Amino acid sequence: MTTTMRATTRTSTKPDTHRPAPQRTCVACRRSGDQSSFVRLVRSPEGAVLVDEQRRRAPGRGAYLCRDAACWTRALKGALAASLRTTITEADRAALLARAERFTTDTDVAEPAAGDEREGDA
Ligand SMILES: [Zn+2]
Repeated sequence: MTTTMRATTRTSTKPDTHRPAPQRTCVACRRSGDQSSFVRLVRSPEGAVLVDEQRRRAPGRGAYLCRDAACWTRALKGALAASLRTTITEADRAALLARAERFTTDTDVAEPAAGDEREGDA
């Protein structure tokens, strides 16, 4: 009588403690980086596109964008809608652009003021 003992030495699945932070990709410029450097946008069940302020708490399909208004403007031309598989309404577009403008407030890129009118030849 031969009893074949099968070795059931299952390698214990040790928790991956030092794994890198989840990488995300901006849907506009395709730059990838740490999740914290992006803003998550979600498509609500109603089809509206919202900024996920609670950091991945909002349910629904998500997309990521840089904290850069240029990326938001670019994404609103199509990439964001394609990524979220929805159609962005004018109201949502306006809201998202308004939100994006907040990212530019702390940059020192000053736009040349167009109010430099000279009427010295009167
Ligand atoms: Zn970007």
